[in-house]
Formats: sequence, C-alpha cells, structure tokens
Amino acid sequence: MLTHNLGYPRIGNHRELKRACESYWSSQSSLDELLEAGRTMRRNSWLLQREAGIDLIPCNDFSFYDHVLDLSLMVGAISARYRALLEKSDGSGLDLYFAMARGYQKNGLDLIAMEMTKWFDTNYHYLVPEFTKNQAFSLTSRKVLDEFKEAKALGINAKPVLIGPVSYLLLGKEKEPGFNRLDLLDRLLPVYLQVLGELEGIGAQYIQIDEPFLALDLKDEAKRAYESVYAEIAKACPGLTIILATYFAGLDDNARLAASLPVRFLHLDLVRAPAQLETVLSLIPSELSLSLGVVDGRNVWKNDFARSLALIGKAVERLGSERVAVAPSCSLLHVPCDLALEKDDMALPREIRHWLAFARQKLDEVVTLGGLAQPETHKRYANSLKENILDAESRRQSALVHRSGVKQRLASIRPADLNRQSPFGVRQEKQHAVLNLPLFPTTTIGSFPQTDEVRKFRLRFRKSELTEEQYEAAIRGETEQAIRWQEEVGLDVLVHGEFERNDMVEYFGELLDGFAFTANGWVQSYGSRCVKPPIIYGDVERQAPMTVKWSQYAQSLTSKPVKGMLTGPVTILQWSFVRDDQPRSITTKQIALAIRDEVCDLEKAGIRIIQIDEPAIREGLPLRKAEWRDYLRWAVDAFRLTSSGVTDETQIHTHMCYSEFNDIIESVAEMDADVITIETSRSQMELLDVFASFRYPNEIGPGVYDIHSPRVPTEKEMSALLNRARAVLSARNLWVNPDCGLKTRKWPETRAALANMVAAAKALREQT
Ligand code: GLN
Ligand code: ZN
Repeated sequence: MLTHNLGYPRIGNHRELKRACESYWSSQSSLDELLEAGRTMRRNSWLLQREAGIDLIPCNDFSFYDHVLDLSLMVGAISARYRALLEKSDGSGLDLYFAMARGYQKNGLDLIAMEMTKWFDTNYHYLVPEFTKNQAFSLTSRKVLDEFKEAKALGINAKPVLIGPVSYLLLGKEKEPGFNRLDLLDRLLPVYLQVLGELEGIGAQYIQIDEPFLALDLKDEAKRAYESVYAEIAKACPGLTIILATYFAGLDDNARLAASLPVRFLHLDLVRAPAQLETVLSLIPSELSLSLGVVDGRNVWKNDFARSLALIGKAVERLGSERVAVAPSCSLLHVPCDLALEKDDMALPREIRHWLAFARQKLDEVVTLGGLAQPETHKRYANSLKENILDAESRRQSALVHRSGVKQRLASIRPADLNRQSPFGVRQEKQHAVLNLPLFPTTTIGSFPQTDEVRKFRLRFRKSELTEEQYEAAIRGETEQAIRWQEEVGLDVLVHGEFERNDMVEYFGELLDGFAFTANGWVQSYGSRCVKPPIIYGDVERQAPMTVKWSQYAQSLTSKPVKGMLTGPVTILQWSFVRDDQPRSITTKQIALAIRDEVCDLEKAGIRIIQIDEPAIREGLPLRKAEWRDYLRWAVDAFRLTSSGVTDETQIHTHMCYSEFNDIIESVAEMDADVITIETSRSQMELLDVFASFRYPNEIGPGVYDIHSPRVPTEKEMSALLNRARAVLSARNLWVNPDCGLKTRKWPETRAALANMVAAAKALREQT
C-alpha cells in the first residue's frame, strides 16, 4: 500500500516565500538570491516528506507565485501584451512571470496583470489563463523537468504534479469571441505529451495529473474531452504510472467516466465525499487502482483514524492492498505548515492543540494510516491509534467545545425569529419618517484608510507599549476626525471608520467564545499574500457587546445617523477553519445568534442604521449545483436570524462585494435587508440589469466608484453611472456609495473621490 502526498505548502514555515519574493520585487535582493531561496524551500519540504516516510513525494507543487501561472508558462500560453518581455527576458523567465502575475511598469512599458480568481471553493487565488482563437502552445518553461532533476539529485524520485489539460483549459477564459477553449485541446496536448515523454526519459515513474473538474458538473463536450485526452496520453506514455487526482467534491454522475479512463490510479476526495467510494468500487475495472484521500487537506483537525481505516478497509477488501494508496484529500496548500510552531506561551490553548493537525502532522497521519491498514505493520502503529482515539474522545467531550446554553438557544429558535415585524413596504415608510434622509442618500461601506499610524497604534498596544487607555484614546481621535470630515464633505449616513479593527473576521472572532487563533498558522491566499484564518472549535457565544462602545461614541459626536458595522455569520464562517463535528449550517446559526444580540444592543444604544456585511455569501456556494438550494436556504436564514431582532424603524443594510448576482438574486432578495450596497463600478452598472429585471424590491446602493484603484473618479463619471442606475431603479430606492470599504486607500484620494461622489448625488437630486 503506497502512501503519497498531493502537494505541500510552498510558503515555508516562516513565510520564507513571502520574504524572498517581496525583497526581490523591491530590488533589495538579487535574482540569484531569490532562486536560491526557492531551492532551499523545495529541498526542505522534500526532505521533511521523506523523513515522514511518504512513498511518493510531489515535485512541481512549489511555485514562486501560482501553480496555474506556472502551467501557462510551461505550455507557452502567454498573452500578446507580454511578448515584449518574453524577448528581453533574463533567462530565468522570472521577470515575465512576475509581470504576468503583478503587472509591469518599467522601461517604458505599462502591462496589466492577469486576472485573478478563487481556486474552486478555497481562499487560494489563481491567475486565469487567457486564450485566443489562434492560440498556439509550445513547451516554454522547463520548471517541472528541472524540479524533478533537483529532487533526483537529493536521491528522491519525485512524483511530478501537473494540472491536467482539460482542467487547465476549463480554468481559463476565452479572450475573444468565436471559439470554445476546449477546442484548443488538439494544440495543447502535444506539449503535455512532450513533457510526459521527457519526464519518463529522465526517470520519472509516477505522475500526478490533477483534474478537479471531473468532480464538478460537466458538459458533454468536457466528458468527451476527458475520454480522448486520456486515451492519447495512455497510448503515448504506456510506461508511466498516472495518478489522476480529483478533489473538493465527489465524482457522482461522472464516476463511470472517471473509472473508465485508462490511467493506473484514480484519486478520490473521501473527506468531502466519502459515499463515492462505494459507487467507484462497484464499477471499477481490474486495471485501475485507487488513491484514497482520507486526510483532510482543507481543514486543521486531527484525522479520525477509525473512520479512515473503515474506508481503507472497504477498498482493500475489494481490491487488495497493492491496488490501494493512502493520501490527503487534496494538496496541503490549504492548511498551515506545522503545528509544532505553536508553543505553550502562544495564543493557541494546549488542549485545543491536541485536536489539530497541520500539513507536517498530516504527513504523519497518512503514513500511520498506511501502517495501521496492513496486518504486517499494524502493531507498530497501535499506540498511535490508541492516542488518536483518546484525542478524539477528549474533543468530543470537552467543555471548551460544548456549551449547553448555546445548544438550548439554538433549539428554541422560532420561525418568527427569522422575520422582521412588518414587510419591507411598511418598514420603508417608517424608516424614511425617522431618518429623514434626502433623496439618493450618500454613505460609505464602513472602513476608512488604515494609515501607518493606526497600524502602529495597534502594534504598540499588542506589544504592551501602549496601555488600553492610551490605545483607545488614539482610536477615539481617529474616529472623531473621520466623523468631522464626513460631516464637512456632506455625507448623509456616516460610519465610525473601523479604526479599531485589524480584520473584519478576526476582530469578531477574538471577542467571541469558540474561536482560537494561531501564531503561525499562515495559508497562502495569492502570491506572497498569506492569511491566518481563525479556528472555530466550539459552540459560539458572545459574552458582551463587541462594537457598541465605538458606534455609540461615534454617534455621540454628530446629529447625522452613524451606521453600526458588523460582519455577517456566513462571512465569519467562510473565512475561518470550521468545526467538522457538526454541519456548517449549525455553526453559522450559532454565529448568527451572537451577531443578532449585537444588532439588538446597537439598536438599544440608539444606533438607527446597522450594516451586516456578507461579502462571502456567494463564494460559499457549493461546487455542485445540486447542493446550491440547501446552502442558500441556510445562508439566507442565518442572515435573517441575525437581522430580524430589531423594530421596523431600524434600517438594516448589507454589503456584498462582487459583481455576479444573476444566479443568486432571488436569495439576495430573500435576505430582506432594507438596503444592499454592492460592487458595480467595474462592470459599469451591468449587474444592475439583473436587479432591474428581477424587480429587486428593496433599496440599493450600486457602487459608483472602484475603491480597488487609487484613481480619483470625476463627478461626471459618477453622475453618468448614477443616471444609468436611475433609469432602472426607482428614485426612492437608490443610494450613492463607493463599491467597498476604503481601508486600503490613502486619505488624499479618498477625500477627493468622496467629495466628487457627494457632488454627483446633489446634482442628481437637483435634476429630479
Ligand atoms: N465594512 C467592511 C469595510 O468597509 C466591508 C469589507 C468588505 O466588503 N470586504 O472594510
Ligand atoms: Zn466589499
């Protein structure tokens, strides 16, 4: 029984990748130093996987920025705008590579970066391959071959990892009309065959080809593509042992197709979709072996050995142990590097540490499971099994996890708790009467620039260089300035500015019971950007108000309404590592109750408008469409539970920052927020069409300027956008605001842009 790993975190235990890249980008280190840092990181991760006892160690899972971009370079899918760099490249190709990833403004060139989007339902972002009708492909980067040789020099016969040709094309985008990117397969495949042939030539035996789309809803053309591509690969490289990897969902209706492809191993994600094992075993041909993804590559919990062994046992019984391999469910890219970096004096409580496994620990789990599953070696690992059972038991029974008050409260939720007192029409009348806002009220999304000064306060407070009093006085100072400034510029609904918040999820997590934080649990988000998601380990409960003090203070400074600012339950869930011992819907409901209490406390404190941000609701959509309804039901209900404890007069806002609403507009309407502010400026209000044709009933603030760029939009531009919005929405329902929070901007551009925005709103009022 083989053990293998699908991919190891590439950022390094101490975020060495971030340091090396950022120092190279800012010309503080040389290309040689960067390349050397890359070699060191690869060597470290190979050696530690060998030490852990993993049989098949991956290579080409390392990347200086993104593995999809690596592949675009391998096959030469380089958009024409980068050609100039291709010619005068430095040999390593890294200038071109980073230009594609980050844009390039040097030597008289101004090249925009490739588009970035989320890798399936993870928080990792990849660079979207760009294809043209006459797209040609040729072997352009030899990275995978070089890494294989590099590992070989260390005595490791590594398993090169490549995204398969069908998934690669599906991940990309047609950049001009008149063709389907799958039509490019005939041109793309020869490059893959050349690479596979060369890899075989230099001694590769196993190749992992990732085809995650096989576990998604597939059109017929894609199914046919899978059949022909893998037939050709099998024909061209009969000597290679190909492991075809699927993950993040079950094969389900594609099981027959996947099992019929002429590869040696099929990898299944048995964490996300354990039931698919039965299906696949019932139709598996005798030449095919299975790789069982039983160790969760998407979450931080210790494996439940008993459950995994049951799955492995079932496969072994049917196939024999030679036809079974054990692995994590997917690449370990999505979990932090090493739990051993969390020490006793750090944030993570020791009891909770016993329940966790990060990437390094997951390797041990894979090896231990392999050992336990075989009679010859079972004994050697028997102690680990005993320990695992004890740890699982301690977690199941821990008072840290279970709070009877929370469970009781959850059980006593009544349908009425999900409904506001009156329908929107009635609420709107009452709200307009108490708020007395002008037509087309102006507002912002919540945060104001987080200047170096504000960050410094926070850092010094954390290091105990400032007392709590000093820190709070500093934050009050910032808040007061922001309020004064908003009054001066003439905004109608003010915000307190969120100066006290590091991050919109972390801030609430730190104040809620049931959340834990790591000191070093970094995960790559994109390129050199890493995030440190909180860990939700137990029943969530709010001990005391979390934001009331700040909102109340801000409101005390002005007679204009100040919006209370909260993060919604789905977003808090989505941007954390979540419990695997209860459904996500239950955890979300617990968070919803905690935030609901905060909403009610804000109302009691005299806050008349409360915004509950849900920017992550859309990215929580399951990968398989069949599961959307169920998800949308509980996600919408969680929002309604959060927002429905207030009187009709209190105005509830929500904010979402993406521009794809077509397929979820009904659910957005069901959330029944009095006002929704959304991103539209980049799509020039295109997405308003869906709000208009659906006849979205409540009030809307379509973002009139793109806060992701330092550029200051003119009054005229914003007026034009507002006029377009005005044409499809009733005047009564239209708000004026930027498309997201202003945290990442600087003050000068923020001031200028908001002054123009207020002027555009005034002009519209005069016309009406
Ligand atoms: N209120 C948050 C802010 O302004 C919203 C952030 C977001 O939508 N991602 O920063
Ligand atoms: Zn936003």
